[in-house]
Amino acid sequence: MRLVRQNEERGLSVDNCRGVGRKRGSIAVAVLVTAAIASGCATPAERTGGQGGSGTGKEGRGEEQGREVDGAAGALLSPAEKARRAQAARAAAARRWGLVQVPLTAPAPPKVKPRLTTRKGFEVEGQVAEGLPPVFTTVPVKDRVVFLTIDDGAEKDPELLRMMDELKIPYSSFLSDYLVKEDYGYFKKMQDKGVALHNHTLNHRFLPGLTYRQQKREICGQQANIEKRYGKRPPLFRPPYGNYNKDTLVAAKTCGVKAVPLWAAEAFPDRMEWREWDKDLHPGDIVLTHFRGRDDWKGSMPDMVRRVMKTITARGYAVAKLEDYV
Ligand SMILES: [Zn+2]
Repeated sequence: MRLVRQNEERGLSVDNCRGVGRKRGSIAVAVLVTAAIASGCATPAERTGGQGGSGTGKEGRGEEQGREVDGAAGALLSPAEKARRAQAARAAAARRWGLVQVPLTAPAPPKVKPRLTTRKGFEVEGQVAEGLPPVFTTVPVKDRVVFLTIDDGAEKDPELLRMMDELKIPYSSFLSDYLVKEDYGYFKKMQDKGVALHNHTLNHRFLPGLTYRQQKREICGQQANIEKRYGKRPPLFRPPYGNYNKDTLVAAKTCGVKAVPLWAAEAFPDRMEWREWDKDLHPGDIVLTHFRGRDDWKGSMPDMVRRVMKTITARGYAVAKLEDYV
């Protein structure tokens, strides 16, 4: 039975990562400005409007404009005007939350979802023949989009919910019950804001060390738990630490899991870590991060979002909703 150890595949020191990030960052700025113009997004100069836009009054107007889109007046606006106002509201939110650049807007999701296959080298015996859920780190797409996924559930920061909602940045959560049960209500609020809640087991055990029955309890138990608490059985499952064997995938299949997304990069408040040798983002890459705070990290959840969005936007990518593609 094959054992896949994800953590050993990363081998990047922090200093290397930062050095590469800085170097690439300066090149990427030119690319971004071009991309921003092409997509009709505001460039930094446009955002400030040459009026030194640090006053709160200006930001306030941006918010009001954003609200009108959804109000009665919104029905009278042309699609182009609605898009313009939504972008203005997002730019105002980006200023409020201290983002270096306004997040790029993702293109419309595909009408037909891409066909997923297991990443080469990540298969278990009988993967295709037994119809086991595919295991992948990147979704096969052509658009410059990436997907943000947040794991575990330890830190329950209300700022994160507000920040992501105001910035209109989609993300997906992979929840472990032993942490989530401290406050189920926090994740209900998250779900109410349109975030899908997926399976990351009951107790975050190292699954290949468990018997099939134990694994089934960890995975199927959390399927039932999320369905009971949040009304929907998750289609997606991510094994703790990214470690799994054939029993894991068989158990996941039996309790209704459709796919097993791992990750191509991991975000922290002070750095990125990469799975690939080129230490870069690619279309469809899944980015992992965690619900953590200053106890574990050199920063808060909003610090982490600022850091990961700096990387994503500077390299010309938009964050798309994983469930639109998988
Ligand atoms: Zn985890």
